[in-house]
Amino acid sequence: MKIDSGILKPPFFHPHAPHYYSYGVIGFIIGHEFTHSVSGHGLQFDERGFLRSWATATATAAFNVKNAGIVEQYNNYTTPAGKVNGEETLSENIADNGGIRAAYEAYRRHLERLPYGEDVIKELENYSPDQLFFLSTAQAFCYKTRPGEEHIPLFTNRHSPPKWRINGMMSNMREFAAAFNCSTSARMNPRDKQSVW
Ligand SMILES: [Zn+2]
Repeated sequence: MKIDSGILKPPFFHPHAPHYYSYGVIGFIIGHEFTHSVSGHGLQFDERGFLRSWATATATAAFNVKNAGIVEQYNNYTTPAGKVNGEETLSENIADNGGIRAAYEAYRRHLERLPYGEDVIKELENYSPDQLFFLSTAQAFCYKTRPGEEHIPLFTNRHSPPKWRINGMMSNMREFAAAFNCSTSARMNPRDKQSVW
């Protein structure tokens, strides 16, 4: 089968990729895009696409409280080129956090239906399925930039820099901390974990 449409091709997707990889990479991206329907601008449009907010006042107030936690979390991240702007990147950060949660839960449900569990190749046998899921997502966002050009993604992109997209959302997941046995003092296992959806 030849896959050559948009993002539905390696390294993001292959029909014969391991399950943890499919859910961790394209599953996460699909979850991210779906979460945009309830992040930032998504909430301001009704079911027919008209600019008419459908959220109740109570839901909007609760949403704003949760948003503030995400803004503060990402405001604390820095790069060699400067600080991340938690307000500017909020909608994408919400989509990342909702996306990884949706992909992870879908993966766990899928695993329960696999009669023999995940078929992990010998070289990766030391990793658990959960670890492989998180590693797949992280690897898909590996990023390298030339010295002196670190500021470009910071000022031209509404996403957080790749390192903080990954560390930010994964440090909000108890399942990540459990998968990697993070101590309670580990940076990737903060006591206050943020979530919106
Ligand atoms: Zn997005």
